[in-house]
Amino acid sequence: MNQDLRRVLVTGANKGIGLAIVEAILEHAEDTRVFLGSRDEARGRDAVASLVAAHPAWSTRLELVPIDVAREDSVSAAAASVRARGVELYGLVNNAAIGVGSGTLRSILETNTLGLRRVTEAFLPLVQKPGGRIVNISSASGPLFVSSCSPERQRELVDASITRERFGALVDECLALSRPEGDDGAGFAARGLGDGSAYGLSKALVNAYTMIVAREHPELHVNACTPGFIATDMTRAYADAAGKSPEEMGMKPPSSGAKAPAHLLFAELEGNGRFYGSDAKRSPLDRYRAPGSPTYVD
Ligand code: NDP
Repeated sequence: MNQDLRRVLVTGANKGIGLAIVEAILEHAEDTRVFLGSRDEARGRDAVASLVAAHPAWSTRLELVPIDVAREDSVSAAAASVRARGVELYGLVNNAAIGVGSGTLRSILETNTLGLRRVTEAFLPLVQKPGGRIVNISSASGPLFVSSCSPERQRELVDASITRERFGALVDECLALSRPEGDDGAGFAARGLGDGSAYGLSKALVNAYTMIVAREHPELHVNACTPGFIATDMTRAYADAAGKSPEEMGMKPPSSGAKAPAHLLFAELEGNGRFYGSDAKRSPLDRYRAPGSPTYVD
């Protein structure tokens, strides 16, 4: 086994932006080996086969790792299988998520926020120290959600010193607002939790969690980014509903969504625990910054 290769695990990589991130890594960093994470083994095998068919040389640099981020047993089995290979991870890309309309508040938080935390905690011991990288695929919906919250909630969600306890209490408070008959937006508004968008909330919480891990691990590079507005299965419904093509909607191809993640994996970075726009420039946590507009500085 070649111990010099930089190994990167990408979750939710059987399609969409995750698959594009895998391609970008293999294409632009020749000293890498990628663990392509997929919750469904058959879909993961198909993704590996399609990449290898297009790039036969990648067959030795690509491996399937079954991982369902919403299931504790699946995440621990995935971590155990990587540990058993006796290798460290140079990078962990937490990409797997579900979108608006694909679940309840509970299932969206369970996958997008708690799933990301579950994977991070399970793989942290395997991430190379110093210098390893964790890239959390978040969304501009996170800052947009924060901008709709009360001033107190905004301060809480952008607080770089937020503790694990406070973070856990916040997640529990939000989960308690989930109703089997459908989520209650009014319950959110009454607590200063803005527009009640479960997806935006899940990503605002990802950004807060990113700051916690970065603070606890100054020897690592731990950051989050939005990939941009990208044409994938997650966003197809928007175009369908508008009767427009993804291009007409302003969506970019998946390869474009890999730009910021690749930057956070391989570029020289300043600071830690930050949120980046799809143009790979820093963005604020509490309002939208359009790609191409000035970099955020605090
Ligand atoms: P897709 O729906 O195309 O892909 C999502 C991926 O996540 C799939 O591989 C899916 O697997 C996987 N996944 C979902 N749930 C789980 C789970 N429990 N365990 C493991 N894998 C899971 O979405 P995108 O490619 O668009 O999204 C990728 C990331 O980018 C997400 O974090 C998303 O929130 C973010 N994002 C996307 C934007 C866009 O415009 N597309 C904008 C902003 C952020 P399966 O095939 O089995 O369903």
